[in-house]
Amino acid sequence: MLLAQARQDIVTFSRKLITDHLTVGTGGNISIYDPEKKMFAISPSGIDYFDMTAEDVVILDLEGRIVEGSRKPSSEVDLHRIFYQNREDICAVVHTHSTYCTVLATNHMDLPASSYLVAFAGRNVRCGDYAPFGTRDLAEKTFSAMEGRKAALMANHGLITGGTDIRDAYTVAQQIEFCAEVYVKALSIGKPVILSDEEMDRMIVRFGSYGQKKER
Ligand SMILES: [Zn+2]
Repeated sequence: MLLAQARQDIVTFSRKLITDHLTVGTGGNISIYDPEKKMFAISPSGIDYFDMTAEDVVILDLEGRIVEGSRKPSSEVDLHRIFYQNREDICAVVHTHSTYCTVLATNHMDLPASSYLVAFAGRNVRCGDYAPFGTRDLAEKTFSAMEGRKAALMANHGLITGGTDIRDAYTVAQQIEFCAEVYVKALSIGKPVILSDEEMDRMIVRFGSYGQKKER
């Protein structure tokens, strides 16, 4: 079985999306890229995360062709693939419908530097322009919103994050959802104070989270 560890990690982290309240139902999807084989493993479409097994995970090449697997891959294949084609620093992608990121994305608002923890993604997290789910247009708009960042909000939809590996991408998703929740609540009682670009650049260096090259 190709990419056996990646398949297992997709099962494990897909379940965590539910237990960590980062998505509901079968919303969201996860992929992991193998830069040597130039293939990626992605969660299947519409299978309950607690019924999913490693065999259900689908392996695709960079052209989006199925290499191994009998299931239908996630409808957001292009959204994942575009990062592996164009970003050397990204070897895993996590897409969620987490509540507070989706609240901001519903208003087409960026997540500003409301906390130093936003530096997990970069100086801020931009919201990309709206496009329907599962389209190449959505992939391209989201990709450009994530330029120089490890996360982007997807208008009227949710959140996407990338990392050097699945743990990295998942941590960014968790931290950015937390920051979005605090920011939305802070907005409801007053005017959040936003950190400067200079301060965020210092945090990014301390986190080592920006422009990090693949370690494998
Ligand atoms: Zn989605």
